[in-house]
Amino acid sequence: MQKLVFVLLVVFGSLSLTSAQTIPSPNDVLGYDIGTQFSRNHQVIDYFKAVETAVPNQVKLVNYGKTNERRNMYLAFVTSEANMKNLETIRENNLKNAGLLDGEPTATDTAIVWLSYNVHGNEASSSEAAMLTLYKLLSEEQDLLNNTIVIIDPSVNPDGRDRYINWYNETASTPYDIDKQASEHNEPWPGGRPNHYLFDLNRDWVWATQVETEQRLEVYNKWMPHVHVDFHEQGINEPYYFAPAAEPFHEIITDWQRDFQTQIGQNHAKYFDAEGWLFFTRERFDLLYPSYGDTYPTFMGAMGMTYEQGGHGMAGLGILNDEGHVLTLVERLTHHTTTGISTVEMASKNAKQLNTEFKKFFNNANLKYKSYVLKGNEDKLSSLKTLLNKHQIAFENATSSKVSGYHYATGEQGSFNVDSNALVVHSNQPKGKMVKVLFEPNTLLSDSLTYDITAWSLPYAYGLDAIATTSKVSSNTMASKKSLQVLNDAYGYVSKWDSMEDAQFLAALLKQDFKVRFTEKPFSSNDKTFGRGSLIITKGDNKHIEKMVSKLNGIAQEHAHPLTEITSGFSQKTPDIGSPDIKLVNQQKIAVLSGDGTSSLNYGEIWHFFEQQLHYPVTSINTDDFSNTNLNKYNVLILPNGNYRKVLSEDNMTKLKEWVRAGGKVIAIDGALRSFAGKDGFSLSYKDSEDDDDQKDNLTPYADREREYSNNLITGAIFNAKVDNTHPMAFGYEDNYFTLKLGSSAYNLLDSGYNVAYLNDTKVYSGFAGQNAVKNLDQTLVFGEETMGNGSFIYMVDNPLFRSFWENGKLFFVNSIFMVNNNAYEL
Ligand SMILES: [Zn+2]
Repeated sequence: MQKLVFVLLVVFGSLSLTSAQTIPSPNDVLGYDIGTQFSRNHQVIDYFKAVETAVPNQVKLVNYGKTNERRNMYLAFVTSEANMKNLETIRENNLKNAGLLDGEPTATDTAIVWLSYNVHGNEASSSEAAMLTLYKLLSEEQDLLNNTIVIIDPSVNPDGRDRYINWYNETASTPYDIDKQASEHNEPWPGGRPNHYLFDLNRDWVWATQVETEQRLEVYNKWMPHVHVDFHEQGINEPYYFAPAAEPFHEIITDWQRDFQTQIGQNHAKYFDAEGWLFFTRERFDLLYPSYGDTYPTFMGAMGMTYEQGGHGMAGLGILNDEGHVLTLVERLTHHTTTGISTVEMASKNAKQLNTEFKKFFNNANLKYKSYVLKGNEDKLSSLKTLLNKHQIAFENATSSKVSGYHYATGEQGSFNVDSNALVVHSNQPKGKMVKVLFEPNTLLSDSLTYDITAWSLPYAYGLDAIATTSKVSSNTMASKKSLQVLNDAYGYVSKWDSMEDAQFLAALLKQDFKVRFTEKPFSSNDKTFGRGSLIITKGDNKHIEKMVSKLNGIAQEHAHPLTEITSGFSQKTPDIGSPDIKLVNQQKIAVLSGDGTSSLNYGEIWHFFEQQLHYPVTSINTDDFSNTNLNKYNVLILPNGNYRKVLSEDNMTKLKEWVRAGGKVIAIDGALRSFAGKDGFSLSYKDSEDDDDQKDNLTPYADREREYSNNLITGAIFNAKVDNTHPMAFGYEDNYFTLKLGSSAYNLLDSGYNVAYLNDTKVYSGFAGQNAVKNLDQTLVFGEETMGNGSFIYMVDNPLFRSFWENGKLFFVNSIFMVNNNAYEL
């Protein structure tokens, strides 16, 4: 009997090698019906592993990285047996087809589809849909795989997903409660949407500041798919959204990309219509800001699309929405599975044309600007190169001596001289369209109403002088960097101060207990002049450090940080090293508020900045605990963007002011300024826009109100601020600074205090800003300091850490911590 079963199994097994019977279903592996429970990230991965084990000839799971919380991230490559044997050849053919790899492709008839699930952790139906989609592809939809490689990322943001699901599992009732007021439908701060550092990974594709993005881009650029879908969820009362997207479309998007996303949308509509499901297209979700999971792939040649199911962090396993419908997880994941399969179907049907059009996309001979030439601070150039490398965008060094074209600094035609350090990025390279998107001075807007910021031009973000030219600038490949000299025994060592790299060097020294000075005035020594903020490390100050010179040399080498030796404390041009104008940098003890009332995004940006960029300790204090917090343990308290009405009660405000009077320093960012504006004892005041056309507003037809309102909006636009670079907050800066304004909030110049950066020029250099909003910005504060007793309030109207990509703003933040009002506070 046993023998017979064995024989039957072998026969049956071999006949149905790739049929549903040998492929475990999600229900088999999970132990519950899919959609009746949320699956934790490891359960999702377990399912993918089980399927790989069952059909290794058709599924290959690749571990492409780890999250901050040490969860593994996987990609599943799913295709026919024949394609699987050829996977590497198919990949190379695709890159050759795009001109990203030398040589001619041997075949270009396979479509590559990449499906990304759960980038927002609390939009949790999508990883469930990933499992069902995998199962259906291998059971019912085998035919589609004959000419298609499907790459599935079941969980782009595993830390966020598990944050949401662990919270839901410990909170939800059994059976689930459909009342939307129930606690299981109301996530606590910060929610499961972002990653560990509370970054929105669907805003991070270009900046790649997060490990998840960085590791994903490495594989993405190796594969360069033809279709990329980012699965999301929207509010519980919304139906389903799929392509075609809304205007504005970036002008770089080709007719084919526009047309094919309409075809895909129509294919989805066919399935949705058959079931009577509601959906909408061409509204809300536009294709402009390049750092999304739809735009980034689009600007890299793919059909990049966002699909949005109603649900989100509120929905749980089931919820009664405002239309009287009980929306369930089963329903949500079914819709996402339907669009996923329909997408693969369309790619398979059009595989040949996808390849032909993909090849055309990478021909960039006709872009208006042929070269972007950038010069300036070497550290800033070097961090820009790091970014370009993440996208495999090519760059070279200039060999011309003078270039003319659009001059970013003036916003007009101009020219400048260049030396061999100047960076040249040509647009006629395979990734030329992305080059245009990232470098062009001003993005063309077909519509001012957009989902996100409208300006990000890299020369402004990196603080580099740049020209965009319509003729190709001559260039050659980069010379390799010179190595650093080993330090000799000297009286002291001086470091320049004008970049984040210098700030990282300072943080490393402070952490190793070095005593470091900084100068408030320029000085000359050993025939060199050092600007404000320059760091001085003397042997005399650091006698407590054993083998000080060799230790300093080690840190300098590790940071590739050059130092200038000085032989005496007697300067050629004063101040001397012992002057009161050259002060010790205090080893600041820093705290930051987090939790209810604070913006989780801004808090996350600050947290990430200290841990992953500056590498300097920071203590996070929950706003709930603020009343009981002993502030005397810190020198600096950072208030992220947020609403502090509850936290800063009268008692707490008194406590804060007393601490500042005694020498404490508050750094308030963006919305946090509202807590102080117009309040007793503060000279900060909010500037309201003069509404001189109230009457006219009332006569605007209902249908035009939204558009009319956009006159009052700024949706991420670049302005040129005047800078007082003699103030410690602006050490290392020029006398102007291009700032990214994220909204129309405006504050008057400080009557008493220092207006360190402010707008007295309201020209919009890039991005959209409504005319009323712009008018109101004249003579307003960007960065300032107001002293109180021995301490200070530092105001940052514009958030220099926004999404961590505005590189040139970061030193203002560091200066605020270490250089402004450096009276050492006695702890
Ligand atoms: Zn989302």
